[in-house]
Amino acid sequence: MRGDHQLNEAKLNGTVAIATRPMEESEIKALFKSPAGYLGPIGIEWARDLKKDVDRPVLLVDKALEGRTHLIGGANKEDYHLKNLTPGANFQPTAYADLRAVTAGEACPNCEKPLRIDTAVEIGHIFKLGYRYSESMGARVLDKNGKEVTPIMGSYGIGIERILTAAVEQSNDDNGFWLAPAIAPFEIVVTPTNVGDEKLKSVAEEIAKSLDSAGFDVVLDDRDERPGVKFKDADLVGIPFRVTVGKKVTEGTVEVVLRSTREVRDVTISAIVECFQELLRRKSEKLYPRRGFRTMSTIKLILALAVIVVLGMGVAQIVPPVLANYSFQDDLRQISVMAAPTPTVRTRICSKRSSGKPRNMRSSWRRPR
Ligand SMILES: [Zn+2]
Repeated sequence: MRGDHQLNEAKLNGTVAIATRPMEESEIKALFKSPAGYLGPIGIEWARDLKKDVDRPVLLVDKALEGRTHLIGGANKEDYHLKNLTPGANFQPTAYADLRAVTAGEACPNCEKPLRIDTAVEIGHIFKLGYRYSESMGARVLDKNGKEVTPIMGSYGIGIERILTAAVEQSNDDNGFWLAPAIAPFEIVVTPTNVGDEKLKSVAEEIAKSLDSAGFDVVLDDRDERPGVKFKDADLVGIPFRVTVGKKVTEGTVEVVLRSTREVRDVTISAIVECFQELLRRKSEKLYPRRGFRTMSTIKLILALAVIVVLGMGVAQIVPPVLANYSFQDDLRQISVMAAPTPTVRTRICSKRSSGKPRNMRSSWRRPR
């Protein structure tokens, strides 16, 4: 490897087709006759063929060094290095292989743009199972000529709960969380501060109706509760926008509250639809067909269910002890797809918990025969 490059163990294992481990100090001394830190390719009888010479050590040289000359490397002697080492001239590598880990800023092999490395959440995965299970379990399908063939199998999993928990983990505060409008069950909650007041009630209903007609997912909190209780509930379940219909109605305005930033805007009642069209960048109702807004009496149940689901999953800081015991792996539903070499595709949805099986599947995929 080049001195500033890091070994990627998965690539190494794939190249030698067996699992590898670091050498013990005594093993290093026995092979190189030198302590670690001064190891080099000179003076050792390396294997010539990766598959045939199984009794000899293999010398793999990273592709980054292929064609390079006059390199500096270890001398297999404490405190010494060698100059002018050229692979192929001073020593024979068993093979050149892509062994190093990529680093941020390197050029993409396709478009040459610099690579960016970010932390990500695994919300789903794919395993190529090949013939492993279809062969051992005797699965057969007919190809286009009516001939019986063994299908190639893949396993595809997507964690619905992961998407929700990842969203909540990134957007939460002491009062609950907020969801992106695209995944929120409701985008807007319309909250009259006092349903006993006919004026407030009817304006709230009007606003809910017009937002609904404009294609937004709206819920009207028409419960006879104190405003504080309603605000708390709305905060808790992640609805990204709230319209508070209160005293300012006499001046023709309502409050629009952004759940994420708690920013409050006074908006003229007649301009409420335009306000949300701007906020949610939606113009066409055709893209978002109407579903009809729900009233709080029916939504009470949904709210209660949502809270139970959220608490049950131990989301974010709301229930830290539960989160600590929560395993994403357990919640992955496996969807297996068997693809035959014919246009026929059979789908099997299995609700069994994954119980660590994908890990075995993955290792079988990494080391093809
Ligand atoms: Zn690219």
